[in-house]
Amino acid sequence: MDLSQIVEEIVAAMRDADDRGTVANYIPELAGIDPAQFGIAIVMADGRMIAGGDADTGFSIQSISKVFALTLALGKVGDQLWERVGREPSGNAFNSIVQLEQEKGVPRNPFINAGAIVVADVNLGGHQPRVAIGEMLRFIRYLAEDDGIAINEAVAASETATGFRNIALANYMRAFGTVRHAADLVLGTYIHQCAIEMSCRQLALAGRYLMLDGMHPAGGRVIPPARARRINALMLTCGHYDASGDFAFRVGIPGKSGVGGGILAIVPGRASIAAWSPGLNANGNSQLGTRALEELARRTGWSVFSPTEGDA
Ligand code: GLU
Repeated sequence: MDLSQIVEEIVAAMRDADDRGTVANYIPELAGIDPAQFGIAIVMADGRMIAGGDADTGFSIQSISKVFALTLALGKVGDQLWERVGREPSGNAFNSIVQLEQEKGVPRNPFINAGAIVVADVNLGGHQPRVAIGEMLRFIRYLAEDDGIAINEAVAASETATGFRNIALANYMRAFGTVRHAADLVLGTYIHQCAIEMSCRQLALAGRYLMLDGMHPAGGRVIPPARARRINALMLTCGHYDASGDFAFRVGIPGKSGVGGGILAIVPGRASIAAWSPGLNANGNSQLGTRALEELARRTGWSVFSPTEGDA
C-alpha cells in the first residue's frame, strides 16, 4: 500500500467536499478563517513524513494544547493530579458547567475546558502566567524540534476579551478549591496555550512522543511508557468531548481535537498524525479532519483495536 497515494486521494476528496462544517465564531479572531482549507501530515515511527494539502499553514491548536499541558502537569505533580480532575468521558459539551456542581468542582477529565483550567492552575504553580506559558512553548518546541512555533497574540487577546464562560468555570472551581490561583492568572495561562499556532507538519512532529511510548525521536525519554499509554487512553475516551465515543467508533485511534479545526491522532508504535480543516461539526470537532482520519484509518487498517494494526 502506498501511503502517499492514500494521502493524495484523501486531500483531493476533502478539497471537493461540500459539507465542511462551520468555523468557530465564539472566538472572534477565529471567525474569519477560510473554511476551504484542509491539511494533513503523518510522521511514521521510522521518521518518514507524508503530508498533503495545507500541511504548512499555521492554525490555532486550541484544545490540542490540553494534551501537552496535561503531560507537563503530570510531570510536576504526578498522580496527585487525579485528586483534582477525573478520568471519565463527560458526555457534555466542551465548555459545559452543569456537571461541576453535582461533582463538587472536580471536572470529569483534563480535556474538557473545566479540567484543562485545573491543569493550567497546576502548571501555573505560583508563578506568573508568562512563566508557565514560556515553559509550555519551550516544551512544544522541543517536542517538534522547531523553535519557530509561537503564540498568536491576536487570538489570545480575542479570547481574553470574550471568554466569559471560562472565567465562570475558573471562579466556580476556585470556590471548591480545585482551582487555587486567581481566575485571571489561570486563564492567562490557559488562553495563551490555546493560542499557540502550529501547522499540521509541526503538530504531527510534536506528537511523536505519544507514538513512541514516551521517547523523543532525537533521543532521551520525554515521559515514562505508562504515562504515554495513559495519555493516549484519555485521548481515545475523552479527546472529542461528547463525540469521543463516535470518534473511537469511526476512527479507532486516540485523538484530540481543537476548535481551531485541528486534530492530533496517534497510532501507537506507527504514526503521529495531524489533520486540519477549520469547519466544525455540531460537537465542535473538525468536520473534514474527522472524515479524513476515518478514511485514513479505514484504508491503512490502523486501529488500536486491530491485532495487526495495518501494514502501512
Ligand atoms: N480556547 C477554547 C475554549 O476554551 C478551546 C476549546 C476547544 O478547542 O475545544 O473555549
